[in-house]
Amino acid sequence: MNQSLKIENLHVSVEGHEILRGMNLEVPKGQVHAIMGPNGSGKSTLAKAIAGHHDYEVTEGAVYLDGVNLLEMSVDERSRAGFFLAFQYPREIPGVSNANFLRAARQARLPKGQEIDAVAFYREMYAKMDGLGMDRKFTGRSVNEGFSGGEKKRNEILQMMMLEPQYAILDETDSGLDIDALKIVAHGVNSMRSADRSFLVITHYQRLLDYIVPDVVHVLFNGRIIHTGGKELALELEEKGYDWITKDAA
Ligand code: ADP
Ligand code: MG
Repeated sequence: MNQSLKIENLHVSVEGHEILRGMNLEVPKGQVHAIMGPNGSGKSTLAKAIAGHHDYEVTEGAVYLDGVNLLEMSVDERSRAGFFLAFQYPREIPGVSNANFLRAARQARLPKGQEIDAVAFYREMYAKMDGLGMDRKFTGRSVNEGFSGGEKKRNEILQMMMLEPQYAILDETDSGLDIDALKIVAHGVNSMRSADRSFLVITHYQRLLDYIVPDVVHVLFNGRIIHTGGKELALELEEKGYDWITKDAA
């Protein structure tokens, strides 16, 4: 069995419009792949369909996590199976504090009857927040409520660091971050890179990939992967734009 996140002939419709039109991609365990592509090409649609967002209807195809079809799992099961999505536009959860949210998510991953060690949990959370340059006051605030764009993105990375997923998709985590915050977030992601974990990093700009250096870069256009290359492809796209690839694929 392949240890990978494998997307096979994925077709996804939103409100009756087909956005992903037969997408194929495999991220082997331990690798970091990037998806780049013009706005509107379907990058967030891919991320949200895999996460199980109800607006995104999978009409054909499959997504396998270590050979098991993720699309047959509930949203909750997907998360417990080791999948994590950092949203392009993180949701606010009024009335649920950040600390309680993370604690509940961690508790849900423990075997029945086992209680979370609160002291160790807080110690770990504070250490990770310090690493991300997040003030401790964010533990008591409702999840993402009233957070700035950059604060939300850091909070997504904090969630990822606390949940330690095996497969993570980061959807335009760079947008809304200034260069210093981008470096901090990239450092957080890089600290989690390991042979047991894969990342699919979605970005419109090459800049993020200076700091999170991918093994493979894919270009998504019009609902399909139209080009795949090494990390140097990102630089080529930065320099030449997308036209030279998309003109033959339209
Ligand atoms: P990207 O992330 O690559 O910029 P998206 O996946 O967000 O692209 O969008 C792809 C296409 O799907 C766009 O034309 C967008 O308008 C459409 N789309 C995505 N989500 C929705 C939605 N919830 N309702 C209607 N249209 C949507
Ligand atoms: Mg998007």
